[in-house]
Amino acid sequence: MTTLQRVESLAFIGTKAYNSYVPNQPKLDQAYMDMAERWGSLSHAVRKKVGALVVKGGQIISDGFNGAPTGFPNACEGEDGETLPHVLHAESNALSKLARGTQSSENATLYVTLSPCFQCAKLIAQSGISRVVYKTAYSDRSGLEFLAKCDIEVEEITSSEKVSLSFHDSGTPCSD
Ligand SMILES: [Zn+2]
Repeated sequence: MTTLQRVESLAFIGTKAYNSYVPNQPKLDQAYMDMAERWGSLSHAVRKKVGALVVKGGQIISDGFNGAPTGFPNACEGEDGETLPHVLHAESNALSKLARGTQSSENATLYVTLSPCFQCAKLIAQSGISRVVYKTAYSDRSGLEFLAKCDIEVEEITSSEKVSLSFHDSGTPCSD
């Protein structure tokens, strides 16, 4: 094993260890969720303002809120009040921001103020995110169920507590 390989493997082990357990993880989870909420407040959406952060190895590596793609007007809803089709969800924005940079979302944690929809859940799974923490459950829980099928750790936190969710559905795994 070369020195570089050794450093890389140690960095990997370090990241895994961090993501699996940190004594003050509940406090950190709450702090990151508070920040995700603040980020969501920047959204121009009228209906729902959602914020997301991607955290890895104790660092925020990406952020996003629901909004129009770069170059489009900020409005998220049309005259009928419905969300415009080109608007990206907070998680999708955070993950696509990573695609433009050099950081990897492999084994990272996603904090999002509203639980992911099914479309975002697919992106989250394919991005290698290993843990999703959300605050408010979206009425359509198919995204959460999909994440659980992909063996992604899913947790709901409120202001003072967090709840681990498990879906006992051994449906089709999403590895391929
Ligand atoms: Zn979504």
